[in-house]
Amino acid sequence: MRVCILGGGTAGWMTASALSKKVKNLTNSITLVESEAIGTVGVGEATLPHIRFFNQGLGIEESAFMRATEATFKLGIEFCDWGRIGQRYIHPFGDFGTSINELDFYQHWIKLNQHGDFGSLDEYAYGIMAAKQGKFQLPESGKTELQRAFGYAYQFDSSLYAKFLRQFSENNGVVRIEGKVINVMQDQQSGNVTNVTLDSGQIIEADLFIDCSGFRGVLIEQSLKSGYQDWSQWLPCNRAVAVPCESTGAINPYTRATARKAGWQWRIPLQHRTGNGHVYWNEFISDDEATNVLMSNLDGKALAEPKQLFFKTGRRNHFWKNNVVAIGLSGGFLEPLESTSIHLIQEGITALLELFPVTQDNKYEVQEYNNRMGLQYERVRDFLLLHYVANERTDSEMWRYFSNMTLPDSLQEKIDAWLHRGYVQRYEFGTFLPPSWVAVMMGQNLIPQAYDPRVDKSDFQQIKNMSQSMRKDIAQSVATCQSHMDYIKTIGAAS
Ligand code: FAD
Repeated sequence: MRVCILGGGTAGWMTASALSKKVKNLTNSITLVESEAIGTVGVGEATLPHIRFFNQGLGIEESAFMRATEATFKLGIEFCDWGRIGQRYIHPFGDFGTSINELDFYQHWIKLNQHGDFGSLDEYAYGIMAAKQGKFQLPESGKTELQRAFGYAYQFDSSLYAKFLRQFSENNGVVRIEGKVINVMQDQQSGNVTNVTLDSGQIIEADLFIDCSGFRGVLIEQSLKSGYQDWSQWLPCNRAVAVPCESTGAINPYTRATARKAGWQWRIPLQHRTGNGHVYWNEFISDDEATNVLMSNLDGKALAEPKQLFFKTGRRNHFWKNNVVAIGLSGGFLEPLESTSIHLIQEGITALLELFPVTQDNKYEVQEYNNRMGLQYERVRDFLLLHYVANERTDSEMWRYFSNMTLPDSLQEKIDAWLHRGYVQRYEFGTFLPPSWVAVMMGQNLIPQAYDPRVDKSDFQQIKNMSQSMRKDIAQSVATCQSHMDYIKTIGAAS
């Protein structure tokens, strides 16, 4: 089978790496076309822990990858001014405490909290306590279950990651062609794409096309007219302005997202610089004012001119149509509040690998792929929206818009179940597991009215004692951890 990947951004090169490594008989039959003149989005620096497994699956060594991409470790995201102005919390990668008598620890904590001072839930999460102190160690070096109950991701320069994976893919036989696709030919009967023509006149034929052409969706939309589900009513922020700045002070092992009057600002510390951006809804703030907000909230000197980006949140009606699979921004975009875009690329690749065509008849694969990716996007949408609506802010028009919003049923049900009895509905497919929902709901002041009644079967004094020792265990271990940057140097991952 001949495969043509259109686009050499993060999506294109991640797809090329995975297909060339994992699909038998594809070596030397993958062509990737990219246009330097068009370029890539060039932002996208914070990730989710799953990317570690993507890299491991390719056999990439962590320290080599980190050196090549100026990467730092990420233990979570600090949300500032979200629940209310002045409040901050960290959404970590990992659990709160260890389960007691088969019940999630947070259920016991709700009862403890009702009875007095047993500390904040944060004190039971290793990742949060390490992040707050700028410390890092690998989960596997923890001596107790509790010290190992966290995950981590990376903050990196995504254009360096694409470059790194380009080398990997080319070593695996992927052929890269520089050029702009100016024409797309389709079979009149089936509608399948048969070939693309470049501005050089070169024609590239393939059996399967992967559209990684970014927001343009050159194949999936411009040719195949997949259609777009516009989710602006839920996630109305539609612009961003981004700028890197010098790093000053310690390099934090976490990303920060600070709520603003018409959007929010990100801060992502890499080894050599800090990435910053302001995501906003242009209905309530001008581009100039949004840029001013960004530029007046930087840690250090700006290292480039601010770059403006435009988007509409939503997803394609079909991620896979005929013989074209859209992966990355060509498939959809949900704003970067929880660093989900590169993760959704990974989900798209995983689903494609599992459903890679085996015959000419792909009906089953197409349907399954579209259902699965549709659920992924929808569930990420709900999780992002939760941040805007679990919120007491009414100090600007944007926040008042969210306070009056009717939620999608899927999210309303999830919030209701939580408030009623601290229950988190589980999904079969979905990026964010229950501890993430707990972190954001608790962090933004959605406190359940009741806990699981089975909590009362446990001896309360024993639960108190166990909780005290959990807090102590985490505090003592974090105290002996290396600083984040020292750890990066120790493992030879500094650039
Ligand atoms: P692009 O980077 O746009 O690449 C498109 C490719 O297609 C380019 O190589 C281009 O040359 C090529 N191309 C297009 N048309 C043609 C043509 N006609 N002929 C030939 N080649 C063509 N993600 C995260 O995970 N974490 C984040 O923190 C994060 N922050 C973000 C912040 C913002 C404001 C935005 C907009 C996105 C962010 N993302 C983030 C998303 C992330 O940037 C993208 O998901 C990721 O970079 C993948 O982009 P892509 O490869 O799909 O598209």
